Amino acid sequence: MAEQWSQSDYHHPAAGWGAAKSVAKVMAKHGLVKDGTRALIKMNHVGDEKFDCPGCAWPDNPGKLAMDFCENGVKHLCQELDPGRATREFFAHHTVSSLESMTDLELENQGRLTEPMVYEASTDHYVPIRWQDAYAMIAEELQGLDSPNEAAFYTSGRLSNEASFLYQLFAREYGTNNLPDCSNMCHEGSGRALRAAIGTGKGTCDLEDWESADAIFVMGVNAAANAPRMLTALTDAHRGGAKIVHVNPLVEVAATRAIVPHEVLDMALNMSTPTSDLNLQVRPGGDMALLRGIAKCVFEAAEEDPSVIDSAFVEEFTDGYEAYKAVVDGTSWEEIVTQAGLTEAEIRAAGDIYLAADSAIIAWCLGVTQHEHGVDSIREIVNVLLLRGNIGRKGAGPSPVRGHSNVQGNRTCGIDHNPAESFYQTLEKMYGLTLSRQPGLDTVRTVKGMMDGSVKVFVGLGGNFVLAAPDTPYTMEGLRKCSLTVQVSTKLNRSHLVHGVKALILPCLGRTEKDRTGGITQGVTVEDAMSMVHISHGFMPPASPDLRSEVNIIARIAATTLPKSNTRWIWYAEDYDRIRDAMEQALPGFTDFNRRCREKHGFRIAQPAREREFITPTGKANFNTPPLPDVVPTGDTLILQTMRSHDQWNTTVYSDNDRYRGIKNLRTLVLMNAEDMADRGIIQGELVNLEATSRDGSTRNLNGYTALTYSTPRGSAAGYMPEMNVLLGHDDYSTQSDQPLMKQVRVTITAA
Ligand code: SF4
Repeated sequence: MAEQWSQSDYHHPAAGWGAAKSVAKVMAKHGLVKDGTRALIKMNHVGDEKFDCPGCAWPDNPGKLAMDFCENGVKHLCQELDPGRATREFFAHHTVSSLESMTDLELENQGRLTEPMVYEASTDHYVPIRWQDAYAMIAEELQGLDSPNEAAFYTSGRLSNEASFLYQLFAREYGTNNLPDCSNMCHEGSGRALRAAIGTGKGTCDLEDWESADAIFVMGVNAAANAPRMLTALTDAHRGGAKIVHVNPLVEVAATRAIVPHEVLDMALNMSTPTSDLNLQVRPGGDMALLRGIAKCVFEAAEEDPSVIDSAFVEEFTDGYEAYKAVVDGTSWEEIVTQAGLTEAEIRAAGDIYLAADSAIIAWCLGVTQHEHGVDSIREIVNVLLLRGNIGRKGAGPSPVRGHSNVQGNRTCGIDHNPAESFYQTLEKMYGLTLSRQPGLDTVRTVKGMMDGSVKVFVGLGGNFVLAAPDTPYTMEGLRKCSLTVQVSTKLNRSHLVHGVKALILPCLGRTEKDRTGGITQGVTVEDAMSMVHISHGFMPPASPDLRSEVNIIARIAATTLPKSNTRWIWYAEDYDRIRDAMEQALPGFTDFNRRCREKHGFRIAQPAREREFITPTGKANFNTPPLPDVVPTGDTLILQTMRSHDQWNTTVYSDNDRYRGIKNLRTLVLMNAEDMADRGIIQGELVNLEATSRDGSTRNLNGYTALTYSTPRGSAAGYMPEMNVLLGHDDYSTQSDQPLMKQVRVTITAA
């Protein structure tokens, strides 16, 4: 019998004793007090037996802390160290069809996979298979395709740099650029916007910049759940006198105050530190209008005092200033206020904070990127920063907050369905190959390819593709149409149950586990959201002797699929330093890679924009001048944003609670504005039906969800992914970034 759900206001600071209690509970629940504590001492440090948290991409604190982790980092760690095992006996006991009745939480809690499994259609069971037979099965299927473009090779953001480099090299040598990855759904727009604006697809700040900024704008980020160690940076910044502005339809707990657990005195006195000076509840998609309003404040102030604009920087380093000024002058306050969903006074308050700051950082995450105009919004972030020269100097710059621990590293190391010509040429020169230049498929187009039959083989390195992708029923049908699906994973998830005609589950080592491939202790590297790269060495004994590292699995698939290849796949897998030597040759910024990645804090990949060298067609940083998009919903339509709870990591759900939002035992919910509920005759806790209308006019429904009152702007609503991904149509993706519109779902909500 499911426990009764409840909702209450959360009055406590972020982190603090709430996080400490949660940590103790999760470690006790998994029986990991001893091993967990041992692991935490090693987590987020560099050195032998020191490993990188398998959670998010927030950078490690440079040398300050003995224990450098957050509550959610502990949850991710415990999930990986889970003593449970999904053994051959488990699979013998459950048909795949019976497993489908389990919740995602129940699947996750079956524990670690222990050996390679193949799907046996005659019995509807997964049964054991030997590794070499699994590789042979994959090779036979790939070699049997009419074209390499009938295969797609998916990457989830936990994959290491070395595995990423080898994976893309294999796919390209095999003959395809079909390399969909999870960043197609999260920060694809950030890469495109930043490349166009400043010539690099990444942020230009590091943690020291966060410590020395006078103002920090945090847009579309739920930091306490998705990058919890940002709370340390925010409390430090506040204590340093910085002004902090949070921009989000929901006022998340990180936008109030926090107690950073390693601040022992604060914990002892239960003394919290503010983490915000101004909270702006923009309407979903209203960020660009707010930024345009801040720019308007700057231009207005410049009429009084021209020095508020860094004219010297603008003249020397930017292009398009006059055109941008014209478009800002041409955007009325009325339009800005309407599109932002804020008052003029609120926007001017943000403008004042920006103008008062000598140096400012603007950080953002999915609340900004997962909209039709996500690229334009991020270009507007850069526009505002350029006006006052807030780039390429201390305490200033654009700072995207990345999700998965190595999602940025994946792209840096070649996981890109449409890379630069120079990268192809480098690989061709290094490996004596002739590579296809046909742009590959991203995530959305891979799903469409499965449905129209042009994609027949799907290989997934980590993640839970079927739930991460939009339009879940459509994606499920597509996967089931594949002739072969291969999932390389640590734990059981829904993507193992929604499989192709033939299917394989290949269990890999986790980030915490010792990798003795080739008979030596191997280390892998990751790149955080601030371009810092360092090595990670697992230390725990593997959950099963039959696990393989991701590098080893990729090398064996490649060597078996490409028997005539001159690339030394197995040689690479026997010593990852050899892969790093190749990466040093192939990738800009990886000079002296093997030595530098082992340094105490690793190294920062050189970034021209950080030195005010803008590698763009104009050779300058470019202003962008689009009109504001219309994001105001019409009629009884609401704009729904899909989001994560505090107790989940991407598609992996750890419980039905969402502590910081005061919710217990409920995920089938929709958060609504009280007046919007009243207008629809919906009362608190009432069951409702949601209907989403897609760009192609098709509709999708979710029925029997519980409506909860929550502080969110009129015309907006919120609910959890992956459950609400069913409301997104496969054509509902941005024409600017190709990202699914997960924060811009047009719904109507009626009482059930
Ligand atoms: S902030 Fe992110 S990387 Fe750091 S410990 Fe927490 S989850 Fe892990």
